Amino acid sequence: MPETTALLTPASIAGAAYIVAALLFILSLAGLSKHETAKAGVGYGIAGMAIALLATVGVVVSDAWGEPQAMLGLALLVAAVLIGGAIGLWRARVVAMTGMPELIALLHSFVGLAAVIVGWNGALEASDLSGALLDIHHAEVFIGVFIGGVTFTGSIVAFLKLSARMKSAPLMLPGKNALNLGALVAFVVLTAWYVVTPELWLLVVVTALALALGWHLVASIGGGDMPVVISMLNSYSGWAAAAAGFLLNNDLLIVTGALVGSSGAYLSYIMCKAMNRSFISVIAGGFGIAAPTSSGEVQGETREIRAEEAAELLRDATSVIITPGYGMAVAQAQYPVAELTARLRERGIGVRFGIHPVAGRLPGHMNVLLAEAKVPYDVVEEMDEINDDFAETSVVLVIGANDTVNPAASEDPGSPIAGMPVLRVWEASNVIVFKRSMAAGYAGVANPLFTRDNAQMLFGDAKDRVEDILRAL
Ligand code: NDP
Repeated sequence: MPETTALLTPASIAGAAYIVAALLFILSLAGLSKHETAKAGVGYGIAGMAIALLATVGVVVSDAWGEPQAMLGLALLVAAVLIGGAIGLWRARVVAMTGMPELIALLHSFVGLAAVIVGWNGALEASDLSGALLDIHHAEVFIGVFIGGVTFTGSIVAFLKLSARMKSAPLMLPGKNALNLGALVAFVVLTAWYVVTPELWLLVVVTALALALGWHLVASIGGGDMPVVISMLNSYSGWAAAAAGFLLNNDLLIVTGALVGSSGAYLSYIMCKAMNRSFISVIAGGFGIAAPTSSGEVQGETREIRAEEAAELLRDATSVIITPGYGMAVAQAQYPVAELTARLRERGIGVRFGIHPVAGRLPGHMNVLLAEAKVPYDVVEEMDEINDDFAETSVVLVIGANDTVNPAASEDPGSPIAGMPVLRVWEASNVIVFKRSMAAGYAGVANPLFTRDNAQMLFGDAKDRVEDILRAL
């Protein structure tokens, strides 16, 4: 049956493999949405990606087979995959949990750059299209280059801010909203122009415009809103991949890009809601956000406490809430913290954890650390569940958290983090703050909690200090 045999071409097999891979990616996203199924979700993702890679490489090999020039291209592709794969494997193995967000930001920048290169390639390559199809092709090139460019420089700024190579304070250029809006209008006009007369200089202009806009959008967003920026860039990188998929005629890239783009956009929306921020304002580079008017200076004296005295307070407590933050991750204090929890619970003292949605440097960062240290799930509560209970709590241990427990967010309308919901730890009878110095948190805002009458500072590395308390207990 010759027809049946003809149906089984490498391209048709790859098409079927792409559908399977796309379904696995959807299952992966569904799995990742819950603790219990997250591991399976990762498994589906790996399987989907393996199938997608095998199918794509299979098609390329079968197309190139026997043609010397194409074989050279194939050899280059294999070399690039091997070198890139080796670097990726090495970085992923050595990266510390606290360095994850900046690695992710850097990876997003690669997706953006790839989309720009694919777009340029699409423009320079001879096309056999004509009429409306050619116009669509030109629009795809332009849109792909634009989204890719914004993602590329935006992700680089995010990387620089997250790795503390650039100040996290928002860049406040005069008329910044008009600049962003102007860039968008210019993009629409240039796209129409390029579709009518596809001249190369227009592509050069849109590339420069996109690179500048990406830089400005993310530079204008303050430290406290960076979690949303990461998921927003994740979304942009998805749309950039989808745009590249249209140019490369690759259905799987379109589907995967759309999945990443829409799930990233939804995550950004959820995070904006959790942080009481306007979604539109954040994705538009802080549109409508007024420059902070408060200097954030903290007035008053701080009181210090020693680990032995802290142990004494804990021994007399009836209820304790621990609010961990980025410092617990840096100090890797989750293991002694888990031990302290177990010891206090043995003594009949109620211990719970209050987790802020953006504590640490990754969504769910604290939950991962506490699960790693085998803290029981049922004592780990979200901010909204626990926030009303601080007033009836004897002792709160703020372990390496700062912005997420800053009263300025709810009390100082001029503060850069004004309006962001925080853990109201200051309502408890006693608050012990574990940190090494009086330095500000990630958002760079001073914290008036430290000078409250019921707050005491336990200076030093969080892990060492918790171990000191354990010894004293
Ligand atoms: P912060 O970054 O506000 O503060 C962490 C505190 O930990 C610092 O004040 C630091 O003080 C202290 N610290 C650092 N190392 C140690 C150590 N070894 N021992 C003891 N203390 C230490 O943390 P939060 O978790 O409260 O807030 C997270 C911030 O990060 C928010 O602004 C959030 O918007 C932002 N962010 C969150 C992301 C997410 O997805 N979760 C992503 C990107 C940004 P000192 O130096 O004095 O010790």
